[in-house]
Amino acid sequence: MRTSWGSATDRGLVRRINEDALLAYPPVFLVADGMGGHAAGDVASRLAVEEFAQLAGRPVAEPDEVHACFRRTARRLRTVVEAGRTAGTTVAGVGVAAYDGAEYWLVFNIGDSRVYRLADGVLEQISVDHSVVQELIDAGQIAPEQADEHPERHVVTRAIATSGEPAPDYWLIPAGPGDRLLVCTDGLTIELSDARIHQVLAGVPDPQEAAEQLVAEAVAAGGRDNVSAVVVDVAAATPPSDMEATRPSRGPWTDEVDGATIPRSSLHRTEGSS
Ligand code: MN
Repeated sequence: MRTSWGSATDRGLVRRINEDALLAYPPVFLVADGMGGHAAGDVASRLAVEEFAQLAGRPVAEPDEVHACFRRTARRLRTVVEAGRTAGTTVAGVGVAAYDGAEYWLVFNIGDSRVYRLADGVLEQISVDHSVVQELIDAGQIAPEQADEHPERHVVTRAIATSGEPAPDYWLIPAGPGDRLLVCTDGLTIELSDARIHQVLAGVPDPQEAAEQLVAEAVAAGGRDNVSAVVVDVAAATPPSDMEATRPSRGPWTDEVDGATIPRSSLHRTEGSS
């Protein structure tokens, strides 16, 4: 698969430092949103980028190698952050993957950064947030529209942290020739509606310009948090050879990964296409 991409990040208007970090180098595109303040959150997100950057230049991102990056990030975080200090980072992203001769996106997520896909004119959120507000939405206690203004909107329920093994979610989705993916931190999605994100992704052809415009609009809309975006376009892809293979698949490797789930949006897609 040939890809073209662009990326942008901004401290925003309120935070004193930028604790976000990003990686955009085939076969891996990701954002990391560090938590814990100076010399903790920024270190945590940078460690994630350093570990995943070891995959840069490979033809594909193998699932077990991606998972090893999560584990190495957690291990290094424990050694560099002072005892008693809380630090962690989200990681959300996509890797170029191959399975049975066809090309896929390996989508991975821990925390509340997000992966979206624009395909056939439809924008869908692939990742599912690990956040308190997502749990409240799932429980029917708040409406999705209330999430971005909720006082606990920044509270994540999973992250790469100084304690415990990281438990990211994974999805394997077929890569289409017209796909555009957006990987972003919550600083973008708390400021811009999905409808506005859709408009920019559909209206700005160049991925670098699209990433810059999304980040600039989020800052202009308030910039309450650090903002980061990576936009990835497929320049050429090998589609799956039969319909069965186009179903969202967890692949044979997810048995080794805790907490792997299928996104609700992909389940809808499966129902609609069968
Ligand atoms: Mn954030």
